[in-house]
Amino acid sequence: MELTRLPILKPALKSRYPQLAVFIVMLAGYIFAILAGFIGTPVGSRNFSIVFVWIAWWAILILVAVPFFGRGWCAVCPIPLPGEWLQRGAVLNPPDKKPKWLNLRWPKFLRNIWLQNISFLLLALFSSVLLTTPNITAIILAAMLFAAIGLSMVFERRSFCRYLCPVGGFIGLYSQTAPIELRIKEKQVCVVCDGKPCYNGSQTGYGCPWDVFPGGLRKNTYCGLCMECIRTCPHDNIAINLRPFSADLAKPSARIDEAFKAFIMLASAMIYAGVLLGPWGALKDAAYNVGTSAWLIYAIIFLAIIFAVLPGFFALGILKTKSALPLKQRFASFATALIPLGLMFWVAFSLSFVLTNASYILASLSDPLGLGWNLFGTASTAWKPMLTSILAPAQTLALVGGLIWSARTAQKAANEIKSSSIPVITFCFIVTLVMLWLLL
Ligand code: SF4
Ligand code: SF4
Ligand code: SF4
Repeated sequence: MELTRLPILKPALKSRYPQLAVFIVMLAGYIFAILAGFIGTPVGSRNFSIVFVWIAWWAILILVAVPFFGRGWCAVCPIPLPGEWLQRGAVLNPPDKKPKWLNLRWPKFLRNIWLQNISFLLLALFSSVLLTTPNITAIILAAMLFAAIGLSMVFERRSFCRYLCPVGGFIGLYSQTAPIELRIKEKQVCVVCDGKPCYNGSQTGYGCPWDVFPGGLRKNTYCGLCMECIRTCPHDNIAINLRPFSADLAKPSARIDEAFKAFIMLASAMIYAGVLLGPWGALKDAAYNVGTSAWLIYAIIFLAIIFAVLPGFFALGILKTKSALPLKQRFASFATALIPLGLMFWVAFSLSFVLTNASYILASLSDPLGLGWNLFGTASTAWKPMLTSILAPAQTLALVGGLIWSARTAQKAANEIKSSSIPVITFCFIVTLVMLWLLL
């Protein structure tokens, strides 16, 4: 179903003003989060930067935005804006004269998601401190903003989003499961289209900031839903469609960087569940005490689980399956099956984390800096876990649903590469049992 046929949606997306209004609110919130982290209380649960970034924003992102809107968050994300405005020399329509920045192409050997994998892992390794310490959160938020500005001055388009952003990497991975997509309507219209303004830009808009040719889009991963091609396409050939969940996964990936992204996300959800929700004090201490030998051992085990233990068992499982494809390609194709499971692991983990801490949101709304304000009369809201009675059933449902979803994806991948899905389904079953044990 084509959503852009809805009478109000198309004009709202073609105009730059509605998106700009959202951008301004988001950017103001982002800058306030940075300031709150630096000048507000050091008590994480009382500081806007921790409560709104790691509880409110995270809950919306992982429980709503990614599963239902894919890269919807990227459509309103404030991080690339200042850099993009400087790069373009304009906030709205393309200016007559372009500013003279270096405008280099991103190096060919880095045109993959390994840097995003590394940047996510760096955050993940320090996450215990990051999630609880306002000024560290502020430093990371500011660093992302300045990195995006710096890269916009040197490289063309949104290099930070496409190749470096730790958040964008996993949103892209899981956006493939969302029931929404931006695609062209008619292939033939693109074939004969003069100048391809959706990629090269025109007077009405900018060439795709994500360095994607919309005519070749087959999956959601690298389309940031910036809506620019809706504005530039002179033939009205871009549509936003409602589609079945995980439509992109019917064609398995052949890329090893994307396969490892699936392992990084799956394993990180399991490790976070153990560290943040589990009863193991020594594990928590090791994760929190960054720089100590205990933390070093924790970091080594963390990376070993992601890069050796889980992929090792996975590869061993599929080693004996019959297929004309080499093991590396089978590995990458079957790793596609881990995407729905990984998403559901994050949903189940986040339900615990978010419902336990959501009551801090009301208090922080009235007293965002922890300075004793009471703006909306909710500053003294006491901490209380929410919806505790439905937590375990909801988590079980998410994990079992994820397992079934992944099993079906594995079967489709097996059909595509003419192999057996049984080892992959067995792997998914075992890691789901481990996750159930960690969470319940
Ligand atoms: S990739 Fe990262 S910085 Fe770019 S829009 Fe998405 S979340 Fe924001
Ligand atoms: S501008 Fe429109 S018709 Fe032309 S190539 Fe791009 S999407 Fe296709
Ligand atoms: S220009 Fe179109 S294809 Fe490119 S990121 Fe924006 S919405 Fe996606």
